[in-house]
Amino acid sequence: MTDIVILGGGTAGTLIAHSLLKQPGSDAWNITVIDRDDEHHYQPGYLFVPFGMMPAKRIAKPRHEFLPKRVTFLVDEARRIDREHRLIELASGATIHFDQLVIATGTTPDPTAVPGMADGALWFSSVFDFYTLAGAMALKPAIEGMKKGRIVVHVSETPIKCPVAPLEFALLAQDYMRKKGRDWEVDVVYVTPLDGAFTKPVASKTLGGLLSERGIEQVTDFQVERIDNDAKELVSYDGRRVPFDLLVTVPPNRGSDVVVHSGLGDEAGFVPVDKHTLQSEIDPDIWVVGDATNAPTSKAGSVVHFEVASFIPNLLAHMAGRRLPRRFDGHANCFIESGRGQAMLLDFNYEQEPVTGVFPVPKVGPLTLLKPSAINHASKLAFEAVYWYGLLPGRPLPFPHDMSLAGKNLPPTTPAR
Ligand SMILES: Cc1cc2nc3c(=O)[nH]c(=O)nc-3n(C[C@H](O)[C@H](O)[C@H](O)COP(=O)(O)OP(=O)(O)OC[C@H]3O[C@@H](n4cnc5c(N)ncnc54)[C@H](O)[C@@H]3O)c2cc1C
Repeated sequence: MTDIVILGGGTAGTLIAHSLLKQPGSDAWNITVIDRDDEHHYQPGYLFVPFGMMPAKRIAKPRHEFLPKRVTFLVDEARRIDREHRLIELASGATIHFDQLVIATGTTPDPTAVPGMADGALWFSSVFDFYTLAGAMALKPAIEGMKKGRIVVHVSETPIKCPVAPLEFALLAQDYMRKKGRDWEVDVVYVTPLDGAFTKPVASKTLGGLLSERGIEQVTDFQVERIDNDAKELVSYDGRRVPFDLLVTVPPNRGSDVVVHSGLGDEAGFVPVDKHTLQSEIDPDIWVVGDATNAPTSKAGSVVHFEVASFIPNLLAHMAGRRLPRRFDGHANCFIESGRGQAMLLDFNYEQEPVTGVFPVPKVGPLTLLKPSAINHASKLAFEAVYWYGLLPGRPLPFPHDMSLAGKNLPPTTPAR
């Protein structure tokens, strides 16, 4: 029997467990999934909780109910990966052997990384995150109670998971205040370490334009040094100060401690991989899928879905001693809630930046790229059911795994001389 261990039972770990069991010959594998808890969160829902658009009780479901019955599920914390002896050391004292290891430990916000954030007097009274369920729930009464002043939406550093989520938060906050008739007394400010609203030029220009249109001030190139709790100000390394009444921050996102303690991660705790095969750079029997990698694509559930389509054939080929047949192209597909019952859609990969157009059927859509529409918003809401009952169990979804250029408005190419 071959021991395949999946470390992390979140989006990637669950999808991989289901996908492996669909492969011929899977009865010759012992598949074990390890997670530190038995609560699977629908993380995209965190965005909606503070605005009363999704009840918090819909976010968490028992993890074991979404894992296939034929895998062994251990609720335990992995402390160290002993590569030499092919063992995972667990907090309980147990050790688990692996022949092939899949690291799917994701990324977690670390509010202790910015002085004055988690250790400040204002944490969870005027300074909140919404990247945890606890943060999103605590933020709800603060948003409801905000009658006037400045809501500052802030990204501490990149990369973060779902890099568009803070933009969505700013747009939803502005729309919430508009609907309450408070938008003339409540300002929304967007503070980012990037030089624009987003990383890619066309999307950055479009999204920056939308923020401006909605009266949301942007503060760019802001590398946060600390939060001054007494003055209620964000302070940057170059001495700039941004005052706030309510600060909604995305703390630095870090890889799992087990990766760091095992000497497998970079300085932020992400595992260096071949960005096309998802094989770790350090050990050919260690694979990394989802937010835990250092691959230069978005950290998103949609990306996990596209990655797994390449990862599974590569793992099978590797176990059979054959060359790796698939190359993940970096495909990412992200909805951006833009308020007013609309959302935008981004579709891109390692080579192609997000552009305008329609998706997934050329000329038809019905989804619109980089343009707000009601159908995009309806699709974003529908993603919740797709996530639990389509994506996690590995059912076929109506999106191509590799990004397609069809339907995209591409700039004309320079004719070859
Ligand atoms: C606010 C917000 C909005 C988002 N919106 C979207 C969206 O609209 N669309 C989209 O596609 N994506 C979205 N995402 C991102 C998406 O949720 C993640 O990219 C996705 O869940 C990543 O899957 P993963 O399996 O890599 O990590 P996770 O699903 O986070 O799973 C990692 C698992 O590893 C476990 N783990 C970690 N360390 C250990 C250890 N040492 N021992 C045992 N277990 C461990 C954790 O408990 C966790 O269960 C959003 C995320 C947030 C926070």
